[in-house]
Parts: sequence; C-alpha cells; structure tokens
Amino acid sequence: MAAFKVFDYMQEHQYEQVVYFYDKSTGLKGITAIHNTTLGPALGGTRIWDYPTEEEALIDCLRLARGMTYKSAAAGLNLGGGKTVLIGDASKIKSEAYFRALGRYVQSLNGRYITAEDVNTSTRDMSYVAMETNFVVGLEGKSGNPSPVTAQGVFHGVRAGLMKKFGNPDVAGRTFAVQGAGQTGYYLIGNLLEAGAKKVYFTEINPRHIQRMAQEHPEVEFVSPDDIYGVEADVFCPCALGGTLNGDTIPKIKAPVIAGSANNALLDEVVHGNLIKERGIIYCPDFVINAGGIINVYHEMHGYVKDRVMAETKKIYDRLLEILDIAERENITSQAAAKVFAKQRIEAVRNLHSNYIPR
Ligand code: NAD
Repeated sequence: MAAFKVFDYMQEHQYEQVVYFYDKSTGLKGITAIHNTTLGPALGGTRIWDYPTEEEALIDCLRLARGMTYKSAAAGLNLGGGKTVLIGDASKIKSEAYFRALGRYVQSLNGRYITAEDVNTSTRDMSYVAMETNFVVGLEGKSGNPSPVTAQGVFHGVRAGLMKKFGNPDVAGRTFAVQGAGQTGYYLIGNLLEAGAKKVYFTEINPRHIQRMAQEHPEVEFVSPDDIYGVEADVFCPCALGGTLNGDTIPKIKAPVIAGSANNALLDEVVHGNLIKERGIIYCPDFVINAGGIINVYHEMHGYVKDRVMAETKKIYDRLLEILDIAERENITSQAAAKVFAKQRIEAVRNLHSNYIPR
C-alpha cells in the first residue's frame, strides 16, 4: 500500500495543523488534528485506542477532527473542529500523571484546541486534565452526561424525518427499530415510548444492556443484530457504532426514514449516501442530529443553563428540515446537503472577519 501523504491530505481537506506529542515520563503518546478554527477554538474529545499502526491513528484523528468542524458549524456553535487520539491500551496506560501530562500539552496549544471525553476517556480522567489546563470541558459537576441531550437531539431529528416523509412529525402510532441500546440508544428509546410510539424493536450485543431493557421496558422487543435491518418499521435508528449503513445492510432496510446517533453511520458517505437516496429513504445526517452532546459541552464554556441547552437542541428539528429541503431542491444526498449547510456558515463567518474590527 502506498504511504499516506499527510500534506496532500491536509491540502485536499484544508486542515490547519497536526501535532504529534510524546511525554517520556508517563508514556503519553498522541496526535492532535486541528481542522478548522474559523468559527472558534477547535473542540473535540480525546480518544484512547490501541491502533495497530501510527498511520491508522493519524487517519482516524484527521477524519474525526474534520467531522467536528461540520458538526459544530451545522449546530450554530462558535467552535472549530479538532480531535486528539492517544495511542495505547486504555486498560494499562491510564494514571493521574498520564492525564496531567495531557493537560499540560493541551495548555501548550494556548486555547486553539479544547478537549473533552471520548472513547476510553472518562469525566474522572478529564478532572486530571483540568488540573493542568483551562481548555477542557465535560467535567464532573458541570454539564454532566451528554448522552441524554444527544438522544433528545436525535429524537427531534426523528420527528423532522417523519415530517419530511409523512407530512406529520408525530411519533405516536409509529414503529421504530433501534440498533444499540447503550447510552444514547437507551435514552432515545425512553423518549420514543414517552411520545407514544406504537412499537419499538431493539438490538444489542451487550447482555447487560439487553437485561436493562427487559427490566425497564419489557414492551420493547429484542431482535437479533442481523435481523434489525429487516424489521417493518417507520424509522431505523442506528445508535451503535459507525459504518453499519453499507452495501450489505442498506438493501435490507424496510424503514423509509433513518435517524440515529451513531457517528459516521454511513460506511462511505458518497456511495452509501447515494444508495439510500436511490431507495427513496430519508436519511437524517448523523452529525446534524447527534449534536446535542456538543451543544451541551459548549454551554459549559459559557455558563451552563439546562433550559437554554434544551432549547438549542430543539432547533435540530428546523435545521434538519432545512437541510432535507436543500437535498431535495439540489437533488443531492442529505449528507452532502448537510455539508453544504455547514460550509456556508463557515464561509459567511470567514468573510465577516475582515469587517470593521481588527480580529
Ligand atoms: P454506547 O457504547 O453507550 O452504546 C452503543 C451500544 O451499541 C453498546 O451498548 C453496544 O453494545 C451496542 N452495539 C455495538 N455494536 C452493535 C451491533 N452490531 N448490534 C447491536 N448493538 C451493538 O455508545 P453511545 O454513547 O450510545 O454512542 C453511540 C453512537 O453515538 C456512537 O457512534 C457515538 O460516537 C455516537 N455519539 C454519541 C454521543 C453521546 O453523547 N454519547 C454524542 C454524539 C455521537
């Protein structure tokens, strides 16, 4: 395989900066990608993963940072996109010193990048980071667990998807197939039931989460991971890992609307976005409807008021309808339309920067 050309990739997708860092005393080893800071400091969580190669770590970091730019821009937040990946086995490398070293490194970027939790990092880990830097959010006792807010945003996305397909956003009387009942899927199912869903099916691979659902919502029916796609439902909700919408699964989906929390649900944005479009299914772009979590931490930076967070999260409904209308008008996929929407905001604010005041 040809070597990955970092600068070519940065140029193609317009990244601002990539930083490699290593701390000898703690073994901290990682990469930060800052994609775009037009709207504000680059915010994105820190992920720990035992990447088989450094190149895989770099590519994951770059891809995730770019996704954060679009997510925040589409959500109307004054944030840019960035991400940090730490290379290693999360079960072995974590310590107070390790995260304080990370905090000192983040501080050295002087606010161009703000970190938070992600896969394999917790609020407790971030409390160590916060001992050394001001540029960390998602802290204990502040904005709290983002997952219920993310689920609420997805719920508004589901309603907008139903509105587009059926001319009526009501969840009552509709049927849902939810893939993954971890943090976000679990809360989403609660929201759907509360809103009067006729029937909810779910799938899971974690026995604890299957058990929890059986205890708390016995009316929600379990189906096997392979069978979830073919369920007769109005909405398919991917709330597990990325890439579950692909050439094998999309032909099986019976639901006319897809709306879920999973980041990068489409294995290939272009190929699988188009496959969904050709099938006449309404796809609610992941980074538009799963923005509740980032809205939640953003408000931590500006004085956290829960009601304001929920009001901002509710705006996902109108925003998604606008994006779905762009897709229809331009005859492009909704994923592409969402990117156009996000890029337009970045461009408009970039142009504003030359006006009146010197900053
Ligand atoms: P989670 O790990 O709590 O839940 C995911 C669940 O999916 C787990 O219970 C897991 O067992 C299950 N799962 C994995 N593979 C499966 C499969 N093939 N079939 C059935 N179940 C499967 O994660 P989460 O926080 O709910 O996040 C879910 C997705 O949403 C991720 O892609 C995440 O990046 C994204 N997301 C989460 C948030 C948030 O606030 N938590 C915010 C934005 C985006």
